[in-house]
Amino acid sequence: MRVKEQPRSILVTGGARGIGAAIVEAFLAQGHRVAAASTSGEAPQGALGIACDVTDPASVDAAFAQAEEAHGPVEVVVANAGITKDTLLMRMSEADFDAVVDVNLKGAFNVAKRASKAMLRARWGRMIFIGSVVGLYGSPGQVNYAATKSGLVGMARSLTRELGARHITANVVAPGFIETRMTAELPEATVAGYRAAIPAGRLGLPEEVASAVVFLASDAAGYISGAVLPVDGGLGMGH
Ligand code: NDP
Repeated sequence: MRVKEQPRSILVTGGARGIGAAIVEAFLAQGHRVAAASTSGEAPQGALGIACDVTDPASVDAAFAQAEEAHGPVEVVVANAGITKDTLLMRMSEADFDAVVDVNLKGAFNVAKRASKAMLRARWGRMIFIGSVVGLYGSPGQVNYAATKSGLVGMARSLTRELGARHITANVVAPGFIETRMTAELPEATVAGYRAAIPAGRLGLPEEVASAVVFLASDAAGYISGAVLPVDGGLGMGH
């Protein structure tokens, strides 16, 4: 096993802020070439920012082409772009459901499909999907969101069976409650309730999710595929 990682061409969706930006920064710190694709096209310093809508295959194709032009064929892809449209089932509109499925699940499909081309050619690749503890734990008000996040598990496991023999791995990192804009919008009482349920007794940091992603992208993680790696302070134990 190589000890020193070779620099890779990496594309992170939703890499403009929050957990995605922490993932981009962690890869940059290791000397990789990183493209951050998001709606705004903003990116942490040192990364190539690309405007992209993951729901649109043509936009995803263009984003990969831009990353490939600058950094070479994408070897590691992190499908991190995600949205929420939370409300209880009775109030959840079809539009709320479809929008979340479109970004979180179909977006991940678009990205994985485009990424697989170069990975198959290279006979090496890493696909990492950012799921969520609620994908397998469930969460009231998140029927749409939780369904997409558990859907990513089926996606990663099917990709593992399709592509595993070509040295391509596909895994899910399932964060618990992480301090980002997404959780900053929650009422304090809700956050206090979560904190009480989390064995670690605190919310997680984006950097703690990023270190799990960096590990799964490494050569050292070559025999890990189809796994769900929780980064949740113990909240979802037993998944
Ligand atoms: P943020 O809302 O901070 O960031 C989401 C990112 O996704 C943004 O960069 C946004 O782009 C991008 N994005 C949204 N829609 C699209 C789209 N259609 N095409 C391209 N990019 C898009 O989210 P977090 O950092 O909190 O979450 C990141 C991931 O982690 C998500 O998948 C989320 O579900 C998951 N997660 C988060 C948890 C948390 O506690 N925060 C817990 C568990 C999972 P732009 O910057 O342009 O708006």
